[in-house]
Amino acid sequence: MPDIGDIAANRLSAEQYQRHFDDVEPPLDRKRALVEASRCHFCYDAPCLEACPTGIDIPGFIRKIATDNVKGSAVTILEENIMGGACARVCPTEILCEQACVRTAQEGKPVDIGALQRYATDWLFEHDIQPFTRAASTGKRIAIVGAGPAGLACAHRLALLGHDTVVFDARPKAGGLNEYGVAAYKVPHDFAQREVDFILSLGGIDLRPGQALGRDVSLVQLRRDYDAVFIGTGLGGVNALALDGETLPGVEDAVAYIERLRQAADKSRLPIGRRVVVIGGGNTAIDIAVQAKRLGAEDVTIAYRRGADAMSATPHEQEFAQTNGVKIKHWARPVRLLSDGGRLSGVECESTTLDADGKLVGAGTRFALPADMLFKAIGQTFVAAPVRDGGRELLDLRQGRIVVDDAHRTSLPDVWAGGDCISGGQDLTVSAVQDGKRAAHAIDHFLRNA
Ligand SMILES: Cc1cc2nc3c(=O)[nH]c(=O)nc-3n(C[C@H](O)[C@H](O)[C@H](O)COP(=O)(O)OP(=O)(O)OC[C@H]3O[C@@H](n4cnc5c(N)ncnc54)[C@H](O)[C@@H]3O)c2cc1C
Ligand code: SF4
Repeated sequence: MPDIGDIAANRLSAEQYQRHFDDVEPPLDRKRALVEASRCHFCYDAPCLEACPTGIDIPGFIRKIATDNVKGSAVTILEENIMGGACARVCPTEILCEQACVRTAQEGKPVDIGALQRYATDWLFEHDIQPFTRAASTGKRIAIVGAGPAGLACAHRLALLGHDTVVFDARPKAGGLNEYGVAAYKVPHDFAQREVDFILSLGGIDLRPGQALGRDVSLVQLRRDYDAVFIGTGLGGVNALALDGETLPGVEDAVAYIERLRQAADKSRLPIGRRVVVIGGGNTAIDIAVQAKRLGAEDVTIAYRRGADAMSATPHEQEFAQTNGVKIKHWARPVRLLSDGGRLSGVECESTTLDADGKLVGAGTRFALPADMLFKAIGQTFVAAPVRDGGRELLDLRQGRIVVDDAHRTSLPDVWAGGDCISGGQDLTVSAVQDGKRAAHAIDHFLRNA
C-alpha cells in the first residue's frame, strides 16, 4: 500500500518497532516457574480444570513443573490440547481457568496458569521432542478442510488414532488465524509455524496448502474420495458498515490489515494513519487499535455503539488497549464517513442509548471524529459458497454457520465440522482445538463401527 497523505510508513525507529512487536508477556524462567507452581493447591475437583474448554489436567501439569518433570508436564497439556503452546499465549485465561482458580478468591491473584503452560510447552519445543506415536494404521483416509486450530487439532488426533489425513488449506501457510490473525505481540518469533511443524512431525498428516474448497476441490469430490470429511474453514467474510464512502482510501478491513501486518517481515514498511478510528467492540477491534498505536499512529479511538459491559472484548483486553494509549468511546455509532479531496477525513458519529424496551437507539447528538484511517472491526461471517453445489446448500446452516450435533456431525452423515464456522461456537482458539479433537473421536468411532 503506498503512502497516502497522513497515512505513512516508517513512523518509528527500528528499535521501537522491534520492542512494540516483541513478546508482550516474556516467558517464566525455571526459578519463577517453580515459585509460581508452588502457589497451586493441587485442588481436588479443581475448578480451573472444569473451566478449561479442552479439559487439560491443570493441577496435574503444575504438579509436574513443581517436581521439575517439565517434559511430563508438557505431555499432560498436549494430550488434551495439541495447541497448548498457542493457547498459553492467546487464551483469555482471565475469563477461563484463571477466573475459576481458588487463589483468586483467597488472594485476588490466580495461579498464572497460562505462563506455566507456556513454560512447559516451550521447554518441549526447545528440546525438539515429539512425545507421541501413532497407533497402527487403520487404512482409512480423512479429508480435512482448513489448517487452522480446528482442522489441525482434528488431523492430529485422527493421525494419532492411526488414520491418514489430508489437510487442504486455501492459504500458502497453515495455522489459520494463529498465523494470520492473532495480534503479532502475542505470538512473535514465528511461533505459529513452529507449532504447525511440531504437529506435522507426528506423521500421517499430508498438508496441501493453496488448495481451496469450492475452487480446487469440491465437497462432492471429497465425500467420494475419502472415508470422512472435516470442515474447519473459519470465518472468511467480513461485515460491511453499509455507509457511503466505505471504498474511500483509508477505510480498511481490520482483519485484512492484521493479516498483512502478521506477514510483514519488516513492520516499518506498513503505512498507518496519524489519526485512526476503529469501529467495533470485540477482540479484533482491540487488536487493530493496539497494533495501530504500536505502528506509530498518534491518536487511536475505538468507537463502540454500546457500553463497556456489552463489549465482547474482555475487560482485561479493554484495559490493555487503554494502557497502550487507545481511547474507547462508548455509546457512539458511525452514521457518515467524511472526506476531503477524495480521501477519508473523519467519521460522523451519533451518540446512542437504550430505550425503555432495551433497544439501542440514537440519542440525537452528533459529533465528528477526525481520522485519516478507519478500521472496520464489526464481525466476520462464514463463507458458505464452498459448501454449495450448483447454488444449493449441501449442509444445514443456522444464522449463516454450519449446524452440527453434539458430536460435531453436520447434516451429512460423513461430514463433521468445528471451530468458528459452526453455529453456536465461542470463536476462541481453544474452543476450535476442542471442536477438532471431539470431531476426530466421533469420526474414529464412526469409521470403526461402519
Ligand atoms: C484478529 C483476531 C484476533 C484474534 N485473537 C484471538 C486471541 O487472542 N485469542 C483467542 O483465543 N482467539 C482469538 N481469535 C479467534 C481465533 O483466532 C479463532 O477462534 C480460531 O482461529 C478459530 O479457528 P478455526 O480453525 O475455526 O479457524 P481459522 O483459524 O480461521 O482457520 C481456518 C482455516 O481455513 C482456511 N480456509 C478458509 N476457507 C477455505 C476454503 N474454502 N478451502 C480451504 N481452506 C479454507 C483458512 O485459510 C484458514 O487457514 C482472534 C480472531 C481474530 C479475527
Ligand atoms: S484452582 Fe488454582 S490452586 Fe486449584 S488446582 Fe487450579 S490452579 Fe491450582
